[in-house]
Amino acid sequence: MNNHKAPLRAGEKTAEPLQDKVRRDLMKRLLGITAVSLMTPEFLAQAAFAGTAANAVMGPMVPDVKPTQLAEGVYTIHAHDKFPTPANQGFFTSIMFVVTDKGVVAIDPSASVQIGQMAIRMIKTVTDKPVIAVINTHYHGDHWMGNQAFAEAYPGIPIYSMKETAEAINAVLGEEWISMALKMTNNATAGTRIVAPNHYVKGGDVLEFGGTKINIHHFGQCHTPYDLVLEIVGTPIVHVGDVIMDHRMAGMNDDEGSFIHGIAALKKMKATLPGKTFYPCHGDPAPHILDEEIGLFEAIYNTANAAQAADKSMSEAIALVKALPFMQEYAQNTPDYEDSVGKWTSIAYLEAQQANF
Ligand SMILES: [Zn+2]
Repeated sequence: MNNHKAPLRAGEKTAEPLQDKVRRDLMKRLLGITAVSLMTPEFLAQAAFAGTAANAVMGPMVPDVKPTQLAEGVYTIHAHDKFPTPANQGFFTSIMFVVTDKGVVAIDPSASVQIGQMAIRMIKTVTDKPVIAVINTHYHGDHWMGNQAFAEAYPGIPIYSMKETAEAINAVLGEEWISMALKMTNNATAGTRIVAPNHYVKGGDVLEFGGTKINIHHFGQCHTPYDLVLEIVGTPIVHVGDVIMDHRMAGMNDDEGSFIHGIAALKKMKATLPGKTFYPCHGDPAPHILDEEIGLFEAIYNTANAAQAADKSMSEAIALVKALPFMQEYAQNTPDYEDSVGKWTSIAYLEAQQANF
């Protein structure tokens, strides 16, 4: 299933620089040999059709979603749904914005130009100040496809991410996400094009906008190799991108996420940012969701690891994970649980197999 992954050992870094690994994995995607490839002839035909439609027409406007204040100067435009559909026009990723002395900073402006335009309309209901920066936490399209609206409304606006995030978007993921969004929304996102980040940050950097500071954290590979966590200094709020997802299990792909590194990253976040309210792009902000995510990662990895060490099969490992009381409770209000629990456990099992080899 996944025999091309670099061996990992607990406490060790990957055998090759992550940047090289992601480039290599992206090449595999391009060549269509990834385990779960989108590049079937049927998908490509649909994407080509959708692409033609995108050139011809714009998708419809996205209805207004009133911003909610989370802390002084910090607001969310909350996405109720956790997955894209034609009905929600691809709005399944919450948008945060921070009003500073100098202007507004928008974080992860969701999944289409139309959603980005809606966010700008909503920001204007809160402040007359212009948007002066955008930050993208990682390379998944539902976190950057709204960039276009901000670049069009505020020409020359800086868009920040890790350098490797921008490279991944420009290499192949950009086109893949634009096509996927068209397909999943029945072309509601038509007209959206790639506007990749153009300013680069790394863990340890601090962005200052007037009197407001945003501490940039990168705790290592977790949801992707290049996740940013953004601490809005002077408030309890920490934007975690998809490093924590509240009762949602999508996105643990075998060439992107890691249980061993993810558990280490989440624990480092817990030690670095005590007492914070964590804001996920999918779900509700709360202090407890970090501990819950650590519990989820550990329940799956520790069970898969023990099963693998005892020479139990992968399907036995999946049954053991599903039987855990933690998992049965977690399954409640987790819409993709049944679709994801087997995939997550098999990835954990393979990672344990390599670590124990
Ligand atoms: Zn993501």
